[in-house]
Amino acid sequence: MRTRFAPSPTGYLHVGNARTAIFNYLLARKNNGQFILRIEDTDFERSKKEYEDAIIKDLKWLGLEWDEGPDTKNQPYGPYRQSERFEIYKEFTQKLLKEGKAYKCYCTPEELDQMRKECLAKGKMPKYNGRCRNLTESEIRKFENEGRKPTIRFKVEEGLNIVINDLIRGKVEFNSSNIGGDFIIVRSDGVPVYNYIVVIDDYLMKITHVIRGEDHLSNTPKQILVAKALQIPIPEYAHHPLVLGPDRTKLSKRHGITSVAKYREEGYLPEALFNYLSLLGWSSEDGKEIFSKEELIKLIDIKRIGKSAAIFDFNKLKWLNGIYIRNYDLKKLKDLIIEYLKEKYDVSSYSEEWLLKFTEVIRGNLEVLSDVKNWAPIFFEDEIVYDEDAINILKDSEINKITEKIKEKLNNVEELNDETYVKIFKEIIKETGIKGKRLFMPVRALITGKTTGPDLQQTLILIGKEKILKRIERFTEIY
Ligand code: GLU
Repeated sequence: MRTRFAPSPTGYLHVGNARTAIFNYLLARKNNGQFILRIEDTDFERSKKEYEDAIIKDLKWLGLEWDEGPDTKNQPYGPYRQSERFEIYKEFTQKLLKEGKAYKCYCTPEELDQMRKECLAKGKMPKYNGRCRNLTESEIRKFENEGRKPTIRFKVEEGLNIVINDLIRGKVEFNSSNIGGDFIIVRSDGVPVYNYIVVIDDYLMKITHVIRGEDHLSNTPKQILVAKALQIPIPEYAHHPLVLGPDRTKLSKRHGITSVAKYREEGYLPEALFNYLSLLGWSSEDGKEIFSKEELIKLIDIKRIGKSAAIFDFNKLKWLNGIYIRNYDLKKLKDLIIEYLKEKYDVSSYSEEWLLKFTEVIRGNLEVLSDVKNWAPIFFEDEIVYDEDAINILKDSEINKITEKIKEKLNNVEELNDETYVKIFKEIIKETGIKGKRLFMPVRALITGKTTGPDLQQTLILIGKEKILKRIERFTEIY
């Protein structure tokens, strides 16, 4: 099996497209096949190198490594780019022209527009009327002398039944009379168009399975006609349903984050996004939802990809990400978390050991890595802000007694660690009779400014004796 992902670099990688890439990747891996990356960049007005770079960065981040490229010596392989393959397409175009399967069309944009309007006025779908199909030599000369630059159109035979045995949708039929008539395969500026060169590339790259979104289904009859005219094999097709937002309209920015890059920035882990996207559109028999890439490779089966649209569930992705964060390699997680802290705090002044412990303590409170910014002030700043709940707790507590005791006990130890923490609070309980929630809630509120948070003992140990004393000092001054 050979599959491909063929993005157009006209924007950032959308999660819906990333899911297409994942399906192609998993299926190729499962079948010990190859996964090809091809950049479809012939729409020069909309394609940008910046988007190509961004898409490649996202694919690598997701772990979707591809197997081949035009330059096989250098790894990672550069991708195939259609803009670098015009000479190849030219040969095929010459062949089609010579065999009378394509022809030059000299119609101007104004004339085509007129044709379109006439169709619409008659209540018909716009269709090219084949005006330039049988031009005489002298007509051609006349147009050439006028300086008209021809497009090249593919001759569509009327009334053909085109059958696609789609691996996801089953049998889908089109009538060649309903696909808009002879279509352009090379524009007047010499640039060949997607529906044409996709066929040539899939053939030359020996793609066996074209797996893509169902928005491409309507392109398929044209592509099949081109393949037939070129007498090349037709690949298997699998058109998967699109990803929809919770309101069942096409997933867009209105619904929430849709670009892979934005998910990375927010602090989603690549493994979590990969896992979530690969689950869109099917579910495992036992309801299991957490799968590694290796497990997914084993599990993936085109037959399990449903025909109905998949709804993107932002909350579920977040939930899944939280699970990945809690189980992630601690050192890797620490490195990722630091990136979110660097902009505000001098992270380098903390020891590796302290940062690892901080990561361990805080990870349970993170759904996305950027959440760490909400908790960071507790650990990194000298002064903290008390939220309303914390103030209420403190008001209702015997806080003066508690602060006095903590100060006294802390001053008697060199540092706060598991041992001194246990000892200090044991003594406080014994000496004041205040215990349980009545002790620990106000302590949390006093030192962190919040009423919830990660494990109190570990949090206080990380904050350390010096900062705790400073905070108590400031608290007693203000309140
Ligand atoms: N370049 C097309 C797109 O980005 C992909 C076409 C295909 O998969 O055949 O939508």
